[in-house]
Amino acid sequence: MKKVIVHPERCVGCMQCMPACATAHSRSRNLFAAILESPVPKPRIHVGAGLYQEGFPNRCRHCDPAPCLLACLPGAIFRDEELDTVLIDPDKCINCASCAMACPFGVIRYHEDCHAPPGKVVAVKCDNCFERQEQGLIPACVEVCKVNALTFEEPGEALKRKTDEVARSVSLGVSQAELPAGFARFALLIGHKRKELHVGRP
Ligand code: SF4
Ligand code: SF4
Repeated sequence: MKKVIVHPERCVGCMQCMPACATAHSRSRNLFAAILESPVPKPRIHVGAGLYQEGFPNRCRHCDPAPCLLACLPGAIFRDEELDTVLIDPDKCINCASCAMACPFGVIRYHEDCHAPPGKVVAVKCDNCFERQEQGLIPACVEVCKVNALTFEEPGEALKRKTDEVARSVSLGVSQAELPAGFARFALLIGHKRKELHVGRP
């Protein structure tokens, strides 16, 4: 089954995935109309900044077993086996925040949502854009990401491609020019920082 795969080495921190996600979960599904909606739709993916300001798109991993699901006493969190997706039922959520404390990745937020009862603050997180997938579309964050830092593919294929990229780089003498674009940028950044910090020097 295809999954959203995050390639942090490619992320340029543009944050386009965030409004795309918020729009996909709005009433209107239209960016300009969504801004005027109440409650204002919010993203379920959040781009964080690393030590060197490199971007990292953080989203639900849909863990199995899922710590958030195990922590939810009212049973609001469940796994849809067909979609292989961990979902939250806003009608059952009591806003106790147990799921956020259990989640190791900090991807759950609490706010009003157009899919929840009006005025009710509930736990909200990525739902793998299952409504879009039912329409034959790919998740909104993947569609909008122009540098392919988010891809929607079979995990096995992604792992094989990554292994091949690294193997080719190694057989070519680990020249930075031959590394995948993001790897080269990351390696240069780390090299620069190591020099700055005098790591490995007497
Ligand atoms: S919310 Fe956190 S713990 Fe729950 S499935 Fe997603 S990443 Fe895993
Ligand atoms: S906040 Fe809602 S979804 Fe999270 S554990 Fe509590 S009841 Fe369950």
